[in-house]
Order: sequence, then structure tokens, then C-alpha cells
Amino acid sequence: MNNFEYKNPTKIIFGKDTIEKLASEIPSDAKVLMLYGGGSIKKNGIYDQVKTALSASDVVEFGGIPANPEYAVLMEALKVIKEENITYLLAVGGGSVIDGTKFLSAAAVYEGDEPWDIVKNKVRPEKAMPFGTVLTLPATGSEMNSGTVISRKETQEKLAFGGPALFPQFSVLDPQVIRSIPKRQLANGITDAFTHVLEQYMTYPAGGLLQDRFAESILQTLIEVAPRVLKDPSDYEAAANFMWSCTMALNGLIQQGVPGDWAVHMMGHELTALFGIDHARTLAVIAPSHYKYNFEAKKEKLAQYAERVWNLTEGSMDDKAYAAIEKTEAFFKELGIDTKLSDYTSDYEGTAETIAQRFTDRGWKGLGERQALRPQDAEKIVKMAY
Ligand code: NAP
Ligand code: FE
Repeated sequence: MNNFEYKNPTKIIFGKDTIEKLASEIPSDAKVLMLYGGGSIKKNGIYDQVKTALSASDVVEFGGIPANPEYAVLMEALKVIKEENITYLLAVGGGSVIDGTKFLSAAAVYEGDEPWDIVKNKVRPEKAMPFGTVLTLPATGSEMNSGTVISRKETQEKLAFGGPALFPQFSVLDPQVIRSIPKRQLANGITDAFTHVLEQYMTYPAGGLLQDRFAESILQTLIEVAPRVLKDPSDYEAAANFMWSCTMALNGLIQQGVPGDWAVHMMGHELTALFGIDHARTLAVIAPSHYKYNFEAKKEKLAQYAERVWNLTEGSMDDKAYAAIEKTEAFFKELGIDTKLSDYTSDYEGTAETIAQRFTDRGWKGLGERQALRPQDAEKIVKMAY
């Protein structure tokens, strides 16, 4: 196991009717900007719950943050922050609203002229405007981590950055919000969280025995609750376990002392930037090819995953490792998630070359847990995923 330092300062307020506790988490003299997405919170009652909880606070609103938070929209929100002398941000939404809020928290105190530089240059913000979140969609783990992914249509870019100042101060997780989430988004959430675990687990063996068991338990829990949540999102036990699994999948805990891969996300982000495919779906497209392409390096862990998570105990290590990839793809398909790029677009020819070129142009040093994958490897993996 590698050395590590771990600090996660986000306070989690989890459970039924927890949105009402919101006001006590925000300084009473704060001027709050409440940020939200396309309006789902107005239909499902979350907006009203938040407004009631904050009835004694000074709150300005900014709605309309789209999925894959768009830089141009966020720049409008930044204007509001400056004009209204906002001192505290509150994200009410899924990963997109929370990620957008993280960018704004960094941009609000940024001294440079062009806030896109924070994203492009992967600045690691050390100071930022404080913010909290009310999570409405379990998936990304953004509610308890310091990473964010921002999109810019103008340049077809989707880039990740993060830093210690970008942890939410608190996140309210009421599993009852899951009742109104459409099946498509539930399936996306399960797939995104599942892949987050795989990115931190499906590497060469690194002696993180406990981390492996943490990872496997999250995968097993997601597999167990997925059909229940999809059948009945108001099944509280299933919803609560789904929500907490998504948070635990990417709050840093399972990553400590072990290598991380993240190449599936890096290639997936390019597919969202190019075609607008939902984040989780891009992961389901890339992951099977990525594991097949890197089979030799990952087969020991793949076989362990086969045995411990999927109960596949027959055959050689290679047999089990291969069967585990097939099982993973079948799991995504059972959720209703297509796993080939051609399922999403007929315009896929040339995509692999474009992505490889983008990686080269950005001077990327290499992907994967050994940073050994070059743009040419990404090209082959994406091609396998057509
Ligand atoms: P999302 O883009 O935040 O939301 C997807 C859709 O779900 C939106 O249309 C939203 O509608 C709707 N929705 C949210 N809550 C709902 C509810 N309770 N009931 C009904 N509809 C609801 O989805 P996401 O998967 O959470 O976030 C995806 C983004 O996060 C991507 O940009 C991805 O790259 C990023 N990401 C970040 C991290 C990280 O660690 N920071 C990790 C992985 C992915 P409204 O807009 O109308 O509210
Ligand atoms: Fe993700």
C-alpha cells in the first residue's frame, strides 16, 4: 500500500426530511445564491422545501444550469455573484449543478481575467467561496469530493479540475428525493457510481486489501439495489443504500494508498464533448473495451472481481477475468444502458482519431494507473467501442 494523507471536511446530513435542517448550516449573515438546474426541483417539491428551510435567510436564485455544466451559463451566474455581493453558494441538484457551483466558488475569488484559465490550466484552488449542497440525484459523488467537470460548447471541451478548497462545507442527502428521478437518470447514476469504483479498483494489485473490500462492497450493494430502485424509487431502503453507495464511491476513501486508473472517464468526457452523450453512458461505452485492451495488466484484479463480486469461480484466471468484463457489460445493458458508440450516433467514424489528436494537442502525459497509455492506445480503445 502507498503512503497517503486523507482529509475529507464535508459534513454529511443524511436521511428523511433533512432538507429542513439547511438553515443551521449556513451563516445567518450570509447572502446566499441558490443554484439549480432546468427546473426538476420545481416539479418535485424540493425547491419549496429549500425555500421554506431558508425563509429567514437572504437568498438570490440562479436556475438553468444544464447537464454538463456549461461555461457560458456559469459566467452569467458569476455576474450575479458579483452584482449581488453573494457570500455563500448553495447547489440544489445533481452532479452538474454541484460541479457548476464548485467552478463558481473558485471563479468568485479568482484574480485572473479569464476564469476559463482555472479549468484549462487545472488550477488547484486553495481558496474559494464557501458552499453547501442539497443533492437531488445520486451518481457522481461530487457532493463529498473536491473535483468538478466543466463543459464549454464553443470549443467542444469537457475538462476536469479540483482542489482542496472545493469540498462542499456540507451536503444534505435525503433519499426521498429519488422518488421523482426518471429511470434513465437512475440507470445513469448507478452506472456512474459503479464505474467510479471500477476506476479505483480495476488496476494492478497494489496491496490495498481493505480498499479492495470497500470497493467490492460498494459494487455488490449497487448490484443488489439497482433492480429495486429501478422498480420502485420510493423504496426507501433501496434508495438510501443507492444514495450512500454513490457518495462512498467517490469521496476519496477507497482511493487512498492505491493507484487510480480514470482513463475510462478521460475518454468518456471526450464522447460527451463531441456528441452530448450522457456522462454515465459514455463510461458504459468505454469501460468494456478499456478492460479488454488492458487485459494483461488488469487480469489479476478482473479475476478477483469475477470471484468476489459476480461469484464466477469456474475456469482459469483468464477465463474468469474475461467473464467479468462480459458480466459488467451485461449489467449496464440490464439497466437499459447501451454499450457501443454506434448505439448513440451514426457519425462515429473518425472519433477515435479525433480523441487521440485532442489528447496529443493537450500534451497529455499518459492515461491509466501507470500513465502508460498514449493517445494511440486511446485511439484503439475508442475504436473497439464503436
Ligand atoms: P445531472 O446532469 O446533474 O442531472 C441530470 C438530469 O437529472 C437533469 O436533467 C436534472 O434535471 C435531472 N434531475 C436531477 N435530480 C432530479 C430529481 N430529484 N428528480 C427528477 N429529475 C432530476 O446528472 P449527474 O449524473 O448527477 O451529473 C452529471 C455531471 O457530473 C456530468 O457533467 C459529469 O461529468 C459530472 N461528474 C462529476 C463528478 C465529480 O466528482 N465532480 C464525477 C462524475 C461525473 P434539472 O436540470 O431540471 O434539475
Ligand atoms: Fe463519473
